[in-house]
Amino acid sequence: MGDVKQSRLNPEHIQELVALPALRKRWHEQQTITPEAELETDWTSLARAMSSLPAGVQRGITKHVVGMCGVGKFKLQWGSADSAACPCCGKFEDHLHVPRCMAPSASAEWERRTATLDQWLDTQVTDPAIKHAILHLLQGVCDPSLPCSRLVPVRLRRAFLSQQRIGRAFLSQQRIGYQGLLEGRLSVQWAALQEQYLQSRGSQRSPTLWVSRLSHQLILLGFHMWEHRNSVQHSEDNVQLRERSRLVNDGIHSQCDMGPTDLPKVVQRMLAVKRRTVLNKPLVDREEWLKLVRMERTAYGRALAPQRRILHRFFHPAQAP
Ligand SMILES: [Zn+2]
Repeated sequence: MGDVKQSRLNPEHIQELVALPALRKRWHEQQTITPEAELETDWTSLARAMSSLPAGVQRGITKHVVGMCGVGKFKLQWGSADSAACPCCGKFEDHLHVPRCMAPSASAEWERRTATLDQWLDTQVTDPAIKHAILHLLQGVCDPSLPCSRLVPVRLRRAFLSQQRIGRAFLSQQRIGYQGLLEGRLSVQWAALQEQYLQSRGSQRSPTLWVSRLSHQLILLGFHMWEHRNSVQHSEDNVQLRERSRLVNDGIHSQCDMGPTDLPKVVQRMLAVKRRTVLNKPLVDREEWLKLVRMERTAYGRALAPQRRILHRFFHPAQAP
């Protein structure tokens, strides 16, 4: 995706972009879509797919496809986070990273969602060759070793080009790019291929409806990956929270190892419980526990310092200053 302005898009601007012509204009201005891909995209089906999404999803998707959403990159720029790290894997996060995240939970979510799409394609009487091509192209989305708009591995490309019927549509979709596929931008060539297949089976189903529904499913696939990322962000599985948890647990171990000496009686009781009991508490409670014990140990140590100096001078008069 091309460069985007570094400021936050206001809600009115997002609302304007939700209408596909405005979004298309922005893609063109930002050079997100090449003139070649522009000609090969089935814009009518995309417009139909977008308008069939719930309003909230439309706004969320629009922010995402212009690359201006609450990912680490922008949260850092906006000052609402102190790192651009992905909450799932800890790597730099922009909007392109979300479906490409290799964290185990993100990979599992991707597998689940693409398996669901596989089944959905069957229920829609999809030409098996088209299904195979779309699912292979989707593999390019999550493979971080591949640029988002470049060719799929040579062996796959050769396999599809050898199928004359599907090869041109496959190449056309590649020109639109993997990210374009995940944003529902399908090639104009799929509808004709699906129509041939439906006719060969004597089906009355509409191939144009099939394309817009597929576009809708692909958009939702990307949206579900975003939702998964957000669920991790707000759970204790978040990378940043895991690091906080690790640090606080280290501190608890250290305090338990030091024992109750140098602590007032009331705080000594906090160390009388089993270490495991403290470690099993929620993160916020553990942080509070550690903060209190550290504070009390420091304060008690400071209060005892004059007495210790007197005792030291008493037992070591020759060393006294
Ligand atoms: Zn990640």
